[in-house]
Amino acid sequence: MRSTGLSMDASTTARREVLISGASISGPALAYWLHRSGFAVTVVEKAGALRDGGYPIDVRGTAVEVVRRMGILPQLRDAHIDSRRCTFLDADGGAVASVNPRAVAGSVEGQDLEVRRGDLAALLHATVRDDVEFLFNDSIDTLDQSAQGVDVTFRSGRRRTFDLVVGADGMHSATRESLFGPEEQFHRYLGYCFAIFTMPNTFGLSHELMLWNTPGKAAALYAVGDTDEVHAFLNFHRPEPPFDSLGNRDAQRDLVATVFAGAGWEVPGMVDAMRDADDLFFDTAGQIRMPRWSSGRVALVGDAAYAPSFLTGQGSSLALVGAYMLAHALATNRDHTAAFAAYEREVREFVAMNQALIDKGGATLFPTTVRALERRNTMLRGLVTLPSPTAQPAHSALILPDFAPVP
Ligand SMILES: Cc1cc2nc3c(=O)[nH]c(=O)nc-3n(C[C@H](O)[C@H](O)[C@H](O)COP(=O)(O)OP(=O)(O)OC[C@H]3O[C@@H](n4cnc5c(N)ncnc54)[C@H](O)[C@@H]3O)c2cc1C
Repeated sequence: MRSTGLSMDASTTARREVLISGASISGPALAYWLHRSGFAVTVVEKAGALRDGGYPIDVRGTAVEVVRRMGILPQLRDAHIDSRRCTFLDADGGAVASVNPRAVAGSVEGQDLEVRRGDLAALLHATVRDDVEFLFNDSIDTLDQSAQGVDVTFRSGRRRTFDLVVGADGMHSATRESLFGPEEQFHRYLGYCFAIFTMPNTFGLSHELMLWNTPGKAAALYAVGDTDEVHAFLNFHRPEPPFDSLGNRDAQRDLVATVFAGAGWEVPGMVDAMRDADDLFFDTAGQIRMPRWSSGRVALVGDAAYAPSFLTGQGSSLALVGAYMLAHALATNRDHTAAFAAYEREVREFVAMNQALIDKGGATLFPTTVRALERRNTMLRGLVTLPSPTAQPAHSALILPDFAPVP
């Protein structure tokens, strides 16, 4: 997939105003590239401040080139989590194998990055915070499109008109819902539910990941460095999504506790910690697959348009690459309809390849049957360290076009 490096005319784009909903990964990345192309950008974020949730995420392949072009690669290299070991455990907590974590994540040493999500969000925000208007603790209430623009009312009561609006508001995007209707039509459930939270590092873990499995259940403790907290992760297979529990925090805790009742290793302590955790995040593993990513003057980017699920490890990379390509399309096409069409044309295959990683065994870390688990453990036992991974072609399948030099 190769895009042509069209030049843009900044003078024709200078006065266009864009509202972006969401200040996590895709929102600030898009804001950076649009501002650089002469757009006036406002970002609205429903949280009161930048969300600094710290679970580790990967930046790989083409997305590494995006952050290099943004000038934040050196800081991200400094923030890179250099985990030393991933230990697989059986039902009783006995070690099955201890391997190189990069091989498990499918990342290429020396090229790809693994950083705390909050570190990446903070760096992206820092690159634009002086040039872009941020409205925290607010969100879009209504969108009213006309030939002239989009009239927006905000939850706070303020009203503004923008030329374009972009939903960068994540997997459960309200922008998508107001434009295209309920999420169910676009959500592809992948058969797992998960809970993540932080808990005290009473295990003496340092720079390492422990992963406990029984068929259909997994528990992980991830020490990102030498800290007094670890990331805890409880993942379980469930043929149908637990619709009753999705919107109810107590029901989520009860469901997880029921599923993991009687489990070995450190799982009982993890379940207790989950009950007390104030940063619990519970969701289903799923993808967003849409036939179109825009309607009129409103478009979607990142997880809002094409969440690939954590099972692919490519969510942040797609968010970064999608933001770059959307900004490039808007910078090179004065007509937004043509721009949104170009964005879809250039990015859709890249998205499809990365979403398809899950069909090629993306969930091997979470076998659901006794046989599949035995097969995986036999494979792991035969290895002292997994061979050094080679890059997945899907990660680097899009060649970025160049933006014209800033005048
Ligand atoms: C446990 C876990 C592990 C993961 N691991 C990886 C990994 O290894 N590698 C990887 O690449 N990705 C991973 N991801 C996925 C990754 O976090 C996302 O794919 C990525 O952050 C997408 O970025 P985004 O900016 O599009 O959306 P999000 O990060 O979801 O951000 C959406 C933003 O919009 C805001 N918002 C929501 N609704 C509104 C509204 N109505 N109005 C205003 N603002 C709103 C939210 O507060 C948030 O700031 C993981 C995710 C999870 C949950």
